[in-house]
Amino acid sequence: MAYQSIPELLAEKPDLTRYEHLYKHLHSHPELSLQEKETASTIASHLESLDVGYEIHTSIGGHGLAGVLANGPGPTVLLRADIDALPVLELTGLPYASTVTMTDVADGVEKPVMHACGHDMHISCLLAAAERLGHLKFAWKGTLIVLFQPNEERGAGARAMVDNGLYDKVPIPDVVLGQHVMPMPSGRLGNRPSTIMGAADSFNVTLYGRGGHGSMPHRSIDPVVLAANVVLRLQNIVSREVDPADMAVVTVGSVQAGSTENVIADHAVLKINIRSTTTMTREKVLAAVRRIIKAECEASNSPKEPLIEATSRFPLTINDSDVAARLASSFGDFFNQDFDSGIPTVNGSEDVSILATSINKPYNFWFVGMVSPEL
Ligand code: ZN
Repeated sequence: MAYQSIPELLAEKPDLTRYEHLYKHLHSHPELSLQEKETASTIASHLESLDVGYEIHTSIGGHGLAGVLANGPGPTVLLRADIDALPVLELTGLPYASTVTMTDVADGVEKPVMHACGHDMHISCLLAAAERLGHLKFAWKGTLIVLFQPNEERGAGARAMVDNGLYDKVPIPDVVLGQHVMPMPSGRLGNRPSTIMGAADSFNVTLYGRGGHGSMPHRSIDPVVLAANVVLRLQNIVSREVDPADMAVVTVGSVQAGSTENVIADHAVLKINIRSTTTMTREKVLAAVRRIIKAECEASNSPKEPLIEATSRFPLTINDSDVAARLASSFGDFFNQDFDSGIPTVNGSEDVSILATSINKPYNFWFVGMVSPEL
């Protein structure tokens, strides 16, 4: 055996050239949520190529996949990476920048695609961990699950994997662990017990009016005026209804109605995003949004109930305090002053928790710095 102790193992710096190439390949070949076919196949062949005994399960909840490495009696740990990219045009000018465009299955629109959320790095890190843990089987006991989740950006991939029988295929883990890159200096790690990320709920809201000619407003019900009142009134929720010590955000990110100057449209569509960091505030804000939309429609004499459709729903990410304490001890030992065990709650959202809460198990999600220290 080449190694004497775990600290010696950890001190050894593995050759990561293969993973740098893999990262650049993934970065230049991003795929949109629900369309991660080639990414999943790259991951599966990489896992197979490691030749250390991963049992590979593919096509779970879309393009989700998992590798299981059984290594004797002991705890079962699930490590998760997400694999989808965003409809964003890359302008970095990097030699391996993405020039990919794809037709989004969600709406049939052709879009530029970029790994703008760092999921290419998550895949590379988890495959590197899969290789290292596979080669160091003599140093640990138990079962390792490396899970690659599709469709995180739209908040439905974890649920899809669970609903598609994930835990009939792989063992129930004792703990679920995951990580996300953050704009912190590389080499730094941040975690916190309890709530580390907020909830995010998005809606499409259709408000109904009565169309007509601009010269005869009295014969119409103008959905533009109705929408304007809704937008303004919604901004009162955070300022007047949410406890100032708590945090919430209500954003109307899109308002669409009509197409020309002198025609009153017959409906307006709003796209609304709500963020919160406690269950109580989340429920309060969601109820207030519905109440205000309905009341404004009534105030405008809208001919029809508004249509409120949920488009995505990310739960709160609440780290288990016992797991966070164990991680604080091992991360502290390894990263020393580069590990912060009490970073503030981040207002972004994740669906990783569903992989654990669906089976009543604890989880922890932490952040890794990936910005060059000189930038
Ligand atoms: Zn992300």
